[in-house]
Amino acid sequence: MNQRQLFLNHVGQTSDAPLALEIVKARGSRLWDVAGKEYIDLIGGISVCNVGHCHPKVVDAVQKQAAEYMHIMVYGELLVTPQVAYAKKLVDHLPASLNSVFYTASGSEATEGAMKLAKRATNRTQIIGFKNSYHGSTQGALSIMGSEYWKNAFRPLLPDTLQLEYNSFDDLQYITEQTACVVAETIQAEAGVLKPQNGWLLALRNRCTATGTLLVLDEIQCGFGRNGTLWAFQQFDVVPDILLLGKALGGGMPLGAFVADKKLMDLFTYNPVLGHINTFGGHPVSCAAGLAAFNILTEENLLSAIKEKEALFLYLLQHPVIKAVRSCGLMIAVEFDSFETNKKIIDILVDVNPGNTGVFTDWFLFASNCLRIVPPLVISNEEISLACKSIIRALDRFKG
Ligand code: PMP
Repeated sequence: MNQRQLFLNHVGQTSDAPLALEIVKARGSRLWDVAGKEYIDLIGGISVCNVGHCHPKVVDAVQKQAAEYMHIMVYGELLVTPQVAYAKKLVDHLPASLNSVFYTASGSEATEGAMKLAKRATNRTQIIGFKNSYHGSTQGALSIMGSEYWKNAFRPLLPDTLQLEYNSFDDLQYITEQTACVVAETIQAEAGVLKPQNGWLLALRNRCTATGTLLVLDEIQCGFGRNGTLWAFQQFDVVPDILLLGKALGGGMPLGAFVADKKLMDLFTYNPVLGHINTFGGHPVSCAAGLAAFNILTEENLLSAIKEKEALFLYLLQHPVIKAVRSCGLMIAVEFDSFETNKKIIDILVDVNPGNTGVFTDWFLFASNCLRIVPPLVISNEEISLACKSIIRALDRFKG
């Protein structure tokens, strides 16, 4: 049986038509498949590999930590040095009220932890999310996901949840003294890169403050420099009560976190004790990798080039088949008339024929007619030009 058949038979599948590209090597913004063909990676593990694949400093940190110890004991009792070092570094780059980091094993678990903390802190049950939002695939996170299509098959989910219209000032009235927390992506990613309109996030912040509701901002996908500032919320003059982190947090290793004020976080230590626990959150190797990646991000001037790289993409991505391009830094959605068009373009781009450089992209969950461009932030101008040239060539080849 060949590799593809083994993959289809023995690895749990998520769709009936996986690309099944076998990647054997990844460096920077490039991937190589088993036949030696090269691809430009415009996905970066979906906003994970912000400092590029296999950055030597991240690889070194992983190897050093793995040689010291990998996993020592379940959560909480031991002082795990890489956890402490990374937490200190993160809070040094966050507003003063976000000073305590609770590590999780994934972004979804960060959402779960934050929702629990909000219920525990407010003694309220209602949790509000927004249409076309994504906060994870576990049942709590699914409960506040803003799309009935994706969650209906798994009901019953959490009671007392509500989905409001993102960017609607009117809908903010539904946030009341019954609401434990509102969970929002600072930039809605899976909606196809939707930014908050002028003043809306601030109005949301003010409504939460007025009703004693905790504001949870999900920067699992849009954080870590993706939008040109270290945190997306910095661009909108708001500070959340709880910040959700994941994806690039681990520098390519699995890691999530929710960050809050210590007074709030300490509620998990009593009544009941062990208010949230896990076995692998803050894995030492993940923290070592994450810290190394974070240092690269903050010390190697990556952020200052984001706007220029975004502008280059926008300049090069012009073609009659493209309906619109929405972007916020290196989070870009290229809109076509339909999913069918998008899928054909994606397939042409990944074209496994040897010779030309392939381009690896995909689509957004709630905007399947949009091509996803969330490359490693280290992507060079030459790689951007090459990728866009391939996209334009694919659009020229596209016959509808
Ligand atoms: N929130 C957002 C905005 C995300 O994009 C994701 C992952 N796509 C999650 C939460 C869930 O993270 P994970 O897949 O690590 O559970």
